[in-house]
Amino acid sequence: MTMMKCALAGRCGGCGGMNLPYENSLQQKEAYIRELYGKCGEIEPIAGMHYPYHYRNKVSAAFSRDKKGNIISGIYEENTHRVVNTDICLLEDKNADAIIVTIRGMLRSFKIKVYDEDTGYGLLRHVLVRTGHQTGEILVVLVTASPVFPSSQNFVKALVKAHPEITSIVQNINTRTDSMVLGEKEHVLYGKGYIEDVLLGMRFRISARSFYQVNPLQTKELYKTALLYAGLTGKERVLDAYSGIGTIGMLASKDAAEVIGVELNKSAVKDAIRNAKQNGVKNITFYQKDAGEFMVQLSEQHVHIDVVFMDPPRSGSDEAFLSSLCKLKPDRVIYISCGPDTQARDLKYLMKHGYAVRRIRPVDMFPWTGHVETVCALSKLSEAKHHINVQVDMDELDLTAAEE
Ligand code: SAH
Repeated sequence: MTMMKCALAGRCGGCGGMNLPYENSLQQKEAYIRELYGKCGEIEPIAGMHYPYHYRNKVSAAFSRDKKGNIISGIYEENTHRVVNTDICLLEDKNADAIIVTIRGMLRSFKIKVYDEDTGYGLLRHVLVRTGHQTGEILVVLVTASPVFPSSQNFVKALVKAHPEITSIVQNINTRTDSMVLGEKEHVLYGKGYIEDVLLGMRFRISARSFYQVNPLQTKELYKTALLYAGLTGKERVLDAYSGIGTIGMLASKDAAEVIGVELNKSAVKDAIRNAKQNGVKNITFYQKDAGEFMVQLSEQHVHIDVVFMDPPRSGSDEAFLSSLCKLKPDRVIYISCGPDTQARDLKYLMKHGYAVRRIRPVDMFPWTGHVETVCALSKLSEAKHHINVQVDMDELDLTAAEE
């Protein structure tokens, strides 16, 4: 495959792996997973992309000024808050990048000041663009430091004229001083306020603040693997933990008796409930709650669960969740993770408490970056085997890297 090069590669650090051919970077990721987990289950070949460029459906650009006072936008230089002015990024959706460049060019004539982190002066902080891979819908989120956005209607009109492909524009107000991109409040300035995308035959609504996987082609691979590993027969009660907008649970619902979803983010749960309605899924219920607390409740009430899908954030799961899971004793656990080191830590816990790792498949969700996603299938051991498993697997599993 011909390799592309980014002129900014040395500065932004977003795609540090581009000095290697793609095939080699895939091999490296697979080797890392083999080293981390090789002794506890079967590692399947990594799922790579045919065309590993412009895959990101969510693009976020910070706005700032350079030393000469020119408006710039792009990603932060690695480990800093210095913006690297970016017109096009090889990882990001091309339409999204073009829209951000247009916005950058419009600010002066609309007298919109960019926000200055040091003085707290100025309006525009970030622009986030979300695109629906299959539907082509595009949501632009203008993140402002205050709710007052003078001449916003004229700005919106001009932006949609320049990019008629935009289907919705939202103003998000972020008055925070930490590094979170989005605040709590938002106003819809144009269109319906969210995008929809179609994935594996289901239609999902995605709001500005809800999590949605950033690489739509690879998400199909990831979910297909998770569903295959789950081996649902139509009879199971399934838990989709850390469920986001409900994608995994809804796809699983076709082959399950009942699905329960739990997710902390309110806007994601709202999306999930609407998504279930829109797709006519009747055997799913979503709860807005901390997944760990929810699991404690389920285990206290002795709720029977057959299969658990869990897909926590990079920091992994927690003891409340894992210990309750071991009390609930579901037959199968499918653990999806974008942080192999925290996943390894959690697997170690599950292996100590009655589960065996069967199969692991790495999926390259984030080509050219150091990140790798994994799907891991675990199954419950009989009491006798549990004893042996603890002895064998725990001795063999080298987790020194994970515990650093
Ligand atoms: N399974 C979904 C989302 C995975 S991302 C998908 O494939 O799209 C992880 C999700 O966990 C996010 O939606 C995040 O909001 C949620 N989350 C983070 N901490 C949580 C917690 N303590 N309890 C429940 N959900 C949590």
